[in-house]
Amino acid sequence: MIGAGPSGAAAALFAAQGGQRVMVFDKQSFPRDKPCGEGLMPSGRLPLRELGLEDAVLSGGAPPLNGVQFGLPGREPVEVPFPEHDGERAGLGIRRLGFDARLAERLGHHSRIQFSPQTEARDVRTDADGVATVITAAGEVRARFVAVADGLRSALRHRLGWTVGPRPPHRYGIVGHWTMDAPVDPWVRITFDTGLEVYEGPVAGNQRMVGLLCYQERMGEFGGRLESRYREIVQALRPEFRNAEMIGPVSAVGPFWYQASTVAQDRIFLVGDASGFTDPITAEGIATGLRQARAFAGALSSSSPERDYRLAHRRLTKDPRRVASLLLRLSRTPALVERGIRAHRRAPQTLTKLLGVGFGYWGFDRITPREWVRLFTGR
Ligand SMILES: Cc1cc2nc3c(=O)[nH]c(=O)nc-3n(C[C@H](O)[C@H](O)[C@H](O)COP(=O)(O)OP(=O)(O)OC[C@H]3O[C@@H](n4cnc5c(N)ncnc54)[C@H](O)[C@@H]3O)c2cc1C
Repeated sequence: MIGAGPSGAAAALFAAQGGQRVMVFDKQSFPRDKPCGEGLMPSGRLPLRELGLEDAVLSGGAPPLNGVQFGLPGREPVEVPFPEHDGERAGLGIRRLGFDARLAERLGHHSRIQFSPQTEARDVRTDADGVATVITAAGEVRARFVAVADGLRSALRHRLGWTVGPRPPHRYGIVGHWTMDAPVDPWVRITFDTGLEVYEGPVAGNQRMVGLLCYQERMGEFGGRLESRYREIVQALRPEFRNAEMIGPVSAVGPFWYQASTVAQDRIFLVGDASGFTDPITAEGIATGLRQARAFAGALSSSSPERDYRLAHRRLTKDPRRVASLLLRLSRTPALVERGIRAHRRAPQTLTKLLGVGFGYWGFDRITPREWVRLFTGR
């Protein structure tokens, strides 16, 4: 396993649960931070529970998330509750610094897992004898299967020649944390402005994550003054933060929209962001990574692991990607956001159903033609 972020760690833990012996390499030491919106969508809770990790995350103070509030600056947002599915409704706000450290700790204590942090994988290949080989900073390792979970800009996917993207228009994320003396608001909130969105959610105690998701044309504003421009934009579009204190560094990441020409071939598998990532706007990257991790481990015991994983991966990602593309269309045009908000006031179920498509709960056919027309015309 290459990478011990949520996808790689979960894939290792699921594989070990299935009886495999696993080696995990990560180039960083833990705890380490990762720029992220830090909302675990409800569809990610079952895999977490199956790994016996949900209680630990809850007792670490992860606040519940009821749904998403969408709005325009200075206007009252509309609330779109998460859909209920298999008794699951709430997501969780998870501070990545603690969440990823907890996963790494679990890797370190598992009897079937050998975890090597601070060990970079430099290459991966399948030899002529059909054995997969990982070249790490500490030497070569041969394995029956290799899962590559090294994140959005996966260097190993690139070395395999499987990278597609990034596709324009390029988008970037700029992320920081704030503390606020106010009760925890259990909603993810997205405020749409021209060329960017402010994305915020509670993570732990009175901390809130606030991210800016920006199109390329707004990035010039941050040249040489990332932190001060970030602060200005957040406080202008979300005046509540004028009384909040910013804590820790501000980090930038992107561009997004990477895909892979294949996600499994010759005993090498891509899991999580390494297997493709559209955009943070749907906030389902971690949940999807956890579900791919479970599919990867399940495929190992089949007679055709690569084929089974490719099929499962497609099932898990096809519709969520289409929902992300749709929301991106909306985000590009404030007039469309306005119509979406009007449509929501008339038929509050439509956006909840759309979130359900994004979580992989059901297909697009759950939304009626009438609801589609209303969503895009507001009438
Ligand atoms: C701005 C932003 C906001 C987001 N908001 C949300 C959200 O609200 N909810 C959500 O679910 N998702 C969100 N996402 C997506 C989410 O962050 C990712 O989907 C998630 O982190 C993917 O996990 P991963 O394990 O696949 O990759 P990562 O978390 O990136 O982990 C990859 C790991 O691989 C290691 N690694 C890299 N290269 C090597 C190498 N060569 N050798 C060894 N180790 C290596 C890294 O050190 C790292 O630990 C957001 C993303 C961004 C950028």
